[in-house]
Amino acid sequence: SIVPDYLAELMQECSDVTGGAPADYIPELARVDRALFGIALTTADGRTYTSGDADTLFTIQSISKAFVYAMAIRDRGLPEVLERIDVEPSGEAFNELSLERNSKRPLNPMINAGALTAHSLVGAPNDPPERWVELILEGLSEFAGRELDVDQRVFASEMQHAHRNLAIAHMLRSYDMLTADPEAVVGGYTRQCAVRVTTRDLSVMAATLANGGTNPITGRQVVTPEVVQQTLSVMLTCGMYDSAGDWITTVGIPAKSGVGGGILGALPGQFGVATFSPPLDEHGNSVRGVAAFERLSHEMGMHLMTVP
Ligand code: GLU
Repeated sequence: SIVPDYLAELMQECSDVTGGAPADYIPELARVDRALFGIALTTADGRTYTSGDADTLFTIQSISKAFVYAMAIRDRGLPEVLERIDVEPSGEAFNELSLERNSKRPLNPMINAGALTAHSLVGAPNDPPERWVELILEGLSEFAGRELDVDQRVFASEMQHAHRNLAIAHMLRSYDMLTADPEAVVGGYTRQCAVRVTTRDLSVMAATLANGGTNPITGRQVVTPEVVQQTLSVMLTCGMYDSAGDWITTVGIPAKSGVGGGILGALPGQFGVATFSPPLDEHGNSVRGVAAFERLSHEMGMHLMTVP
């Protein structure tokens, strides 16, 4: 296959893209090697190609939000989830303390307010918070096709600086958007963000979305095509923090990034792609990751709005 050569070439072309800085609001993340760079592509029929540091572990962070949203819809149904979380792009930073004016719903599941709410909607209505974490770890593992675990150091490090997420959770609790204990929700959500993945894992997770919810490597259905459609739609409009508009116009595929330095994108019916490079731009997106996706989209004609 020519794909591995192409990926290596792409990495080479992006290696002169510098700038940005690893996230430092979680002290443990600031210690990462900023030179790490990996890329992986998994086709909807289950072939994976990688280049660079594609097997290095890092934390999934915000990328988990897309998958947990999918699990919430799987477990509670779309109408119930929509009652608690809207689907409007916010144009604001991921940790903004904003809610929809009238209904007090978080604007979307990709900002922290919506992600904390989605976290609490996984499982059955009476499941305790410990159960959500279990189900989320299980679900993320099914998307990735292998058993994932939590980076305890990153988790502990973030918990010491979780004041803002605690404030958001308490605000959500005051409007009954959260019915559980806000501290338990933040604890669980922070574990969810500290799940360790590789670039290869992320490409399989993206390919599972591209394949309509069935992991193309294990053959196991994780969610239905309807859930995937909803999830990819929200990723397309809200997945890249406050540069979603830039992303849609330049790259043009549903994607999600995380402050750990990962980005994944899914082209429905075709493949999932993922990149990993820790330095972030001012929006919180990986600088090299964005550059790689822009090139990839252009060179492979991935933009969904391209008129054939
Ligand atoms: N754990 C992070 C937070 O909630 C996730 C942020 C991210 O990746 O954007 O602050």
